[in-house]
Amino acid sequence: MNSSRPLRVAVIGSGPAGIYASDLLMKSGRTVEIDLFEQMPAPFGLIRYGVAPDHPRIKGIVNSLHAVMEKPNVRFLGNIEIGTTITVEKLHEYYDAIVFATGAVADRDLDIPGENLNGSYGAADFVGFYDGNPRFHRTWNLTATHIAIIGVGNVALDISRILAKTANELHTTEIPDNVYQTLKTNQATHIHIFGRRGPAQAKFTPLELKELDHS
Ligand SMILES: Cc1cc2nc3c(=O)[nH]c(=O)nc-3n(C[C@H](O)[C@H](O)[C@H](O)COP(=O)(O)OP(=O)(O)OC[C@H]3O[C@@H](n4cnc5c(N)ncnc54)[C@H](O)[C@@H]3O)c2cc1C
Repeated sequence: MNSSRPLRVAVIGSGPAGIYASDLLMKSGRTVEIDLFEQMPAPFGLIRYGVAPDHPRIKGIVNSLHAVMEKPNVRFLGNIEIGTTITVEKLHEYYDAIVFATGAVADRDLDIPGENLNGSYGAADFVGFYDGNPRFHRTWNLTATHIAIIGVGNVALDISRILAKTANELHTTEIPDNVYQTLKTNQATHIHIFGRRGPAQAKFTPLELKELDHS
């Protein structure tokens, strides 16, 4: 490679991993030019489309991510799905290096009987809805009164909290209007969270658990 020109890097995925990798590359001492490819129209990955809307402090990391993206040697290229819109082989023709930072965007099947029955959903679907991800449903049937949530991580608590809060409590957040209107129809009265082992193995943090205890 000709060392008189900048190192050209394609970073695939504009979540925190892709953006912090870009930041580190710029601090490496090499002159770099980075193209940040993103399949969604907007950056920040699951910080935008995963973190719950009532966690503004965590969503606030977009400010530091944005600062990295504003650097003149970083170019954001949205609406481009690598593997579909452009092949990885094609990228190799134009870049010296490729960084894959594509996260974990979809639910993993549990492979248990009944998993696909009506009324059974993966968490990513519901989170995608309430975080306004354009690839997910714009409305949701919230007429169920008794809800079972399988798994005891922070996402289980996020979903429980969103269902336990009133639409008006969430109206002060950045939820889109279609989500607010849908949450107004929420009929949930009982939310049960199922874990396969005991409290010692629960993966949620005490802070998230405490948040459920609101009046
Ligand atoms: C529901 C939920 C709630 C969460 N809440 C919190 C929280 O409260 N606090 C916390 O610290 N963490 C939270 N997390 C975790 C946090 O969001 C992730 O750890 C973090 O976003 C992972 O960063 P990442 O860059 O690896 O991946 P992502 O944020 O997933 O970013 C990957 C990016 O790559 C893009 N991409 C994927 N494939 C392609 C492709 N082929 N071409 C182009 N682009 C592509 C995706 O669109 C996405 O923008 C939560 C996660 C979820 C799912």
